[in-house]
Amino acid sequence: MSEVYFSNLSGKHKSWLDRTSKLFDRAKFASLIEPGDIVAIKVHFGERGNTAFLSPLFVRRVVDKVKAAGGKPFVTDANTLYVGARSNAVDHLITAIENGFSYATVGAPLIIADGINGKDYITVGIDGKHVKEAKIGSAVYHADAVIALTHFKGHELTGFGGALKNIGMGLGSRSGKQVMHSDVLPSIEEEKCTSCGKCIKWCPAEAITVSSTAAIDASRCLGCGECTVTCSFEAIAVNWKTEPDLIQEKIVEYTWAVIKDKPDKVGYFNFITNVSPDCDCCGWNDTPIVPDIGILASFDPIAIDQACVDLVNRTEGLPGSRLSAINDDDKFRTVTGIDWRPQLAYGEKIGLGKRNYTLVEVK
Ligand code: SF4
Ligand code: SF4
Repeated sequence: MSEVYFSNLSGKHKSWLDRTSKLFDRAKFASLIEPGDIVAIKVHFGERGNTAFLSPLFVRRVVDKVKAAGGKPFVTDANTLYVGARSNAVDHLITAIENGFSYATVGAPLIIADGINGKDYITVGIDGKHVKEAKIGSAVYHADAVIALTHFKGHELTGFGGALKNIGMGLGSRSGKQVMHSDVLPSIEEEKCTSCGKCIKWCPAEAITVSSTAAIDASRCLGCGECTVTCSFEAIAVNWKTEPDLIQEKIVEYTWAVIKDKPDKVGYFNFITNVSPDCDCCGWNDTPIVPDIGILASFDPIAIDQACVDLVNRTEGLPGSRLSAINDDDKFRTVTGIDWRPQLAYGEKIGLGKRNYTLVEVK
């Protein structure tokens, strides 16, 4: 069984920030940091318009603890696949600052993991069922250690968004995200194409030709997604079609790729606060489905996500939320329609962690 440390957020006269520091100590996260280590602190800066994302105040606490352990922290996320306020590093950093993240507030530099336009990635070979070459944001690949700070909430593709989603999907480059999101090859939207030819340069399979418009030779296309994130005119359609089980397994394999070269150098914090039914990539958030429950810390990404979903399901739902029954014992399934279990079962199967855990309460 894996140990998951848990601090209940109810109770008088206890700062939630102090609880974060205490959990860092009880989980022995200082042990993953050697003096001088560059430590990536993976967060989600929140989409513009969203207010449920994890507050920079918690990030500051972890930054301070990493510094005290001798590490050199930076705060990071990778660019999004969808066109929003975080799909390139310039927009992403502006959005982060608008949402309250900056050196002044978190005490560490903000670095977008996969660079200006998502093409700054390292290809990591794994022998996955679905993924053989994962594209990981280079800043995190080159970091010595990683601490994931995950806001635990609902997610429209994976049921809930936990540590696996934060690391696996969150640290894939933009084209890596395309591979995770889609089982369908990209296609040209001819009415948007200006025939500029930029996509040709980025296609590794020489599958694109351009005359009056661009065209993709499906017999050559590898489905790598490079062209979809290259076109400035959004003329290459991202196909979002995929099966829930498949995307969950791909996310797990990407998580494996991120952590495989960092044994005993990755720690996970999950915050069950502001449990919106939708993920923080939405430019909104809804009434939380449960009250704020707690903060968890573990070295096991499967155990911590399992513990969080169990805690949410054991807690009475909030009236006025999207739940119709307060005693719903599978709340994320109810609000998203997605069975979230495959990610945990598959993660355990390939050895990322265990679904059996011991919850250690930290007062
Ligand atoms: S980059 Fe976009 S606009 Fe330019 S040729 Fe390719 S599909 Fe057309
Ligand atoms: S998905 Fe990759 S291989 Fe296919 S056309 Fe686009 S760049 Fe080329």
